[in-house]
Amino acid sequence: MDGIKEQYHSQTGEEVFDRIGFIDQSLYFLERPEECPHCGHHSLHGIEIIGACIGSLYWECGHCLEATLKYSKKQTIRYLDRTRKLYINLENLPTIWQELPN
Ligand SMILES: [Zn+2]
Repeated sequence: MDGIKEQYHSQTGEEVFDRIGFIDQSLYFLERPEECPHCGHHSLHGIEIIGACIGSLYWECGHCLEATLKYSKKQTIRYLDRTRKLYINLENLPTIWQELPN
């Protein structure tokens, strides 16, 4: 478990950006596009990353599963960098709904 935590903590915003894998890194949509720019399907939804920004960080197609930028590449990496120091206890995550809210 420590290995996984350490791996997550050491990832830069750019590394996480590369792992998500945006095909077109110059194309971005501040508003959710009607159609997926990759397959044309009408099933794009926003993906939120805890600690990155308010609201969704990027769009994902429910059909082809490709990720599409909401913000510019530079801005997306800046948002992802905010999550570097974030600590999430993955061991408690499956039972977190049983606890009282903070
Ligand atoms: Zn698609």
